[in-house]
Amino acid sequence: MNEIFDLLKNKKEDIKKIVNCFGARPQKIKSIEELSELIQAISRDVNGLDNNVSEEMADCFIMLAQLIDIFNNKDEVSFIVNQKLSRTIKIIEARNE
Ligand SMILES: [Mg+2]
Repeated sequence: MNEIFDLLKNKKEDIKKIVNCFGARPQKIKSIEELSELIQAISRDVNGLDNNVSEEMADCFIMLAQLIDIFNNKDEVSFIVNQKLSRTIKIIEARNE
C-alpha cells in the first residue's frame, strides 16, 4: 500500500516542516476543514455541478501525510488499509461465486 504514499514521495521533510511550523493542533483543525471541502467538491460532482475535486483531493493527501506525521502511525494506517482492502476484495469475490 505504499503507492498511496508515493504521491508525496521525497516530501517527508516538507511535511515535517509544515507540521513543525504551524503545530499539530492547528493542522488537525486544517485537516477537518480540507476534508469538509472535499466532501463539498464530491457532492457538487455527484450533483453534476462544476467542482474542484482534484484540488481538494490533493489538499486532503497533503493533510493525510501531515496527520501520519503527527500521529506517527504510517505502519498502522498501512496495515489497516491492507486489511480493509483485502476484506472488501473477499466480499466481492464471494458475491461473484
Ligand atoms: Mg481545500
